[in-house]
Amino acid sequence: MIGFGQAGGKVVDKFLEYDKRTGSEIVRAAAAVNTAKADLMGLEHIAEDQRVLIGQSRVKGHGVGADNELGAEIAEEDIDEVQGAIDSIPVHEVDAFLVVAGLGGGTGSGGAPVLAKHLKRIYTEPVYGLGILPGSDEGGIYTLNAARSFQTFVREVDNLMVFDNDAWRKTGESVQGGYEEINEEIVRRFGILFGAGEIQQGQEVAESVVDSSEIINTLSGGGVSTVGYAEEEVEERSSGGLLSRLRDDGDDEELDSAHTTNRITSLVRKAALGRLTLPCEIEGAERALLVLAGPPEYLNRKGIERGRKWLEEQTGSMEVRGGDYPYRGAGFVATVILLAGVTNVPRIKELQQVAIEAQDNLDEIREESDENLDELVSDDSDELESLF
Ligand code: GDP
Repeated sequence: MIGFGQAGGKVVDKFLEYDKRTGSEIVRAAAAVNTAKADLMGLEHIAEDQRVLIGQSRVKGHGVGADNELGAEIAEEDIDEVQGAIDSIPVHEVDAFLVVAGLGGGTGSGGAPVLAKHLKRIYTEPVYGLGILPGSDEGGIYTLNAARSFQTFVREVDNLMVFDNDAWRKTGESVQGGYEEINEEIVRRFGILFGAGEIQQGQEVAESVVDSSEIINTLSGGGVSTVGYAEEEVEERSSGGLLSRLRDDGDDEELDSAHTTNRITSLVRKAALGRLTLPCEIEGAERALLVLAGPPEYLNRKGIERGRKWLEEQTGSMEVRGGDYPYRGAGFVATVILLAGVTNVPRIKELQQVAIEAQDNLDEIREESDENLDELVSDDSDELESLF
C-alpha cells in the first residue's frame, strides 16, 4: 500500500493500525509519499524509512498547495526516490499494489496517477487505486482537481475503487473529527474485503473461503468500483461450550439455520442498497464479490448462495462471486459487497459539471485580473515609462 499525499498517507497509516489490531495481515508493506514534510511527520504506523519526501528542491518540504499539475510534475521528476522505497519490499510476496490518495488536493491528486503508471510499467502485479473524492462543500478548485485526477487515475490503474467524502460528510462536525470517523469507515470496509483473501495459519477453514484470486478476478477488466457494507451484532459461542450443548436438539438447529440464512440475505440487501463508498446505481455493475465475515457458526452456504442470486438479479451481472471469511472475536456478522465496473454514477457526472464550471470561472477570473492589474499599473494615457 502506498499513500500519496496527506489523505493517502493517513488512510494507509490507519490500515496498518487495523492490521495490528486485528491480525489480518493485509498490508505486506506500506509507504507514504508527500511533498509536505509535516504531513509525513504526523504519521504513526508507517516506518520512517518508508516515508518519502519528494520535490524538496522545488517546494522545500512545504507541499504544493492544491496545485495538482505541480504534484504530477514533481512525482515524475522524483519517481526514483519513490521506487527506492518500493525496492526494499519483497514484491514477489504481494498480490497487488494499492495506491491511495485524496483526489481533491495537489500532491496525491497529481502524484497517484503518475505512480500507478510507473508501477504498471515495472511490475506484473495488478495496480489498484483507492481514490477519495472531496466533499461538495470544499469548493471549485478541489472539485476540478478531483475530476481531472479521477479521469487520469482510472486510466492508469487496473481498477479504481472510490470513496466519496461527500456521501459520508456529517453536518456539525469538525473536519478533523469527521475525517477520523470517515477513515475508520474506509478501513473497516476495505479491511474486511482485503482480509478475506488472506488465509492465515490456524484459521478455521470456511465452507467456501474467498481467495485473493477472486478479488483480483472481480477487479479485473478495469473501471470503477464501489463497496457496500452492513453488519449485525451477534453473540459468539465458543465451540463445544455450554450453549452449543444446550442447543443440541435437531429442531433448534434447523430453526437456527433458517434464521442464519435469513440474516445473511437481509444483510446482503442492506449492504447493496445502503450507503456505498461511491453512491451509484448497482444495476449494470459488471462484476460483484460478496464476502460474509463473522464467527463460523453464523455463516452458511445457503445464505451466501441466496445473497449471490439476489445480487445477480439486481445487477444483471453474470459474474457474481461469493464466499466466507471466518472472523472471530468482533461480535458481529458483516457483509461486504464489492461492485466492480459500475457505470451509472450520477455523482461523477455532477462532479464533472461543477469542475467544468469552476474551470471556466477560473479562466475568466484570470483574464479579468490580468486586465485589472494592467489598468492599475499603467497610467491612463501611457505617459510614464518603465525603467527597463
Ligand atoms: P494532498 O496532501 O495535496 O494530496 O491533499 P490532501 O490529501 O490533504 O487533501 C486532498 C483531499 O483529500 C481533500 O480535498 C479532502 O477531500 C480529502 N482528505 C484530506 N484528508 C483526509 C482524510 O484524512 N480522510 C479522508 N477521507 N479524506 C481526506
